[in-house]
Amino acid sequence: MSLHPQYIPYKVDALSGRYVTLAHIEPLLSPYSPMEIAKSVLGAPLYRIDWGSGAVKVLMWSQMHGNESTTTKAVFDLLSYLESHPNLKSQISLRVLPMVNPDGASAYTRNNANDIDLNRDAKQLTQPESLFLRAEFDAFKPDFAFNLHDQRTMYGIEDHPATVSFLAPSADEKRQFGPSRRKAACLIAQIAKKLDVHIPNQIGRYDDAFNANCTGDAFQSDGVPTVLFEAGHYQNDYQREQTREFIFYALKYAIKAILDDKLHDFDAYFEIPENQKHFFDILIKNTQYVVDNQIKQGDIGINFREVKSEEKIIFQPVFSAEGDLSSHRGHKVIVENNDLVEYKFNESAHNCL
Ligand SMILES: [Zn+2]
Repeated sequence: MSLHPQYIPYKVDALSGRYVTLAHIEPLLSPYSPMEIAKSVLGAPLYRIDWGSGAVKVLMWSQMHGNESTTTKAVFDLLSYLESHPNLKSQISLRVLPMVNPDGASAYTRNNANDIDLNRDAKQLTQPESLFLRAEFDAFKPDFAFNLHDQRTMYGIEDHPATVSFLAPSADEKRQFGPSRRKAACLIAQIAKKLDVHIPNQIGRYDDAFNANCTGDAFQSDGVPTVLFEAGHYQNDYQREQTREFIFYALKYAIKAILDDKLHDFDAYFEIPENQKHFFDILIKNTQYVVDNQIKQGDIGINFREVKSEEKIIFQPVFSAEGDLSSHRGHKVIVENNDLVEYKFNESAHNCL
């Protein structure tokens, strides 16, 4: 049974596509009494929304990487769902930082306006956006922290794209599972179990190498169960509108699991397959191509580069690999012996707008 009709009433239609900026979300904030807490490098407001006054405190923040907008769309869908379920207000206190990197969002860059990756600045806290996030974390003292991101289309699980990936980030070099990391892992297991109905075989687990500069790792080290959500590719969904819906479900299931205290199945976390980096956007198999003026026969991997053009994101095909790519997969696979000179890349790019 599709749950899609149950999602539609909550979908915030004002947000769509990949290019989501402060200008897009500001008109949507007023029902939630937003507070402007700080300013970005370029002086854009850094907002916070508080929803509910229950005992369980959840902090979530989105778009600390400016070009990762899918979870921001899903967060507003979630807020719209919560507004329709006011009974939850007495159970949960939600603190939402909907756009941690508005300058990056505007420029459609991962980094902030000082070209710093905010998700590598958790220790040094050199940027106003990093200080804002850290101060909110310290002041709120959440029971759970949700770190919301997008992942590239290269991630997959065998023959399927990794549409949603999770990680309970490590809290130390040894990647031990202390109480907080264990709790985060159990929460992920529960979300994945519910989400599997929607996207079987398309839920992945992220690499857990420890990096103290990463926000999730830092918060986990501080003893707060922290979950990394990664919105990835779904078949033919370069605008990530389908994935947005799955992230909405994931957030909803996460809150329900916390409130129902369904955080016991630790082993199930390890049953979630690890992400592989083996997808190209287009994989052309067994074709002729020219390298260094030599005609070769083999496979070609092409990835799309996301480029901001006026107020839209266009997808430019870029040659990424050639040779025997039989261990790779493609979101689109072309199997033919053709002459690449004849291949119209611009047309394929426009198909993905
Ligand atoms: Zn990210």
